[in-house]
Amino acid sequence: MTGKVCEIFESIQGEGLYQGERHIFVRLGKCNLDCVFCDTDFSRTKDMTIDEVLIEIKKYKDIEVVSVTGGEPLVQIDFFRLLAAGIKKSGKKVYLETNGTLYREITLVLEVIDIISMDFKLPSVSKNRALWFEHSEFLKAAYSAGKDVFVKIVVGVNAEDNDILRAVDIIGGICKEIKVIIQPEHPYEAELKSRMVQISRMFNEAGIDVTIKEQLHKKLGVR
Ligand code: SF4
Repeated sequence: MTGKVCEIFESIQGEGLYQGERHIFVRLGKCNLDCVFCDTDFSRTKDMTIDEVLIEIKKYKDIEVVSVTGGEPLVQIDFFRLLAAGIKKSGKKVYLETNGTLYREITLVLEVIDIISMDFKLPSVSKNRALWFEHSEFLKAAYSAGKDVFVKIVVGVNAEDNDILRAVDIIGGICKEIKVIIQPEHPYEAELKSRMVQISRMFNEAGIDVTIKEQLHKKLGVR
């Protein structure tokens, strides 16, 4: 079996709860969404077998975590399942970076995933249709399976209060202990800085802790 693979490389995890760690990145092609802020180049994908990807991963002997990202890895569910199983068998951890919408697919691969970085797409920011139902079902499946799952929300000045409150409601309804990372789209915008404080307060008032983290890899000038 082959899958669409954009690139395999070593870098610093720039987002989320494990920001700053060295990870191996496997970027898969294809996505089911079309976010306005997407910076993935899907034009450079090539067909690779599972063995070919695992051989590349094996080169990074001293890195423990493989971040499988995209695109949306779960779009290629059969390829992802075999790849993740192979990564685990090699003794490394599988870190899934996902847009958190393919809630049926995630149930098929939970046993071969160690960490889930799940996006919550705010319609006012990503310009996708509302995905509340998909996000809710996805988070319930991941959390109830006892996975190390956290939520990442990209916000811009255009983030609407209704969207924030909906995210607060869904996450808080599942578990208020779930870690939430707020990622500013353009961290240096003055208007966004004060908006970040307002958004953090909305989560905190509902009993949910949030951490604001800008993309570290961009700050460091690495991939
Ligand atoms: S989910 Fe991620 S890869 Fe897909 S369009 Fe949005 S930003 Fe791009």
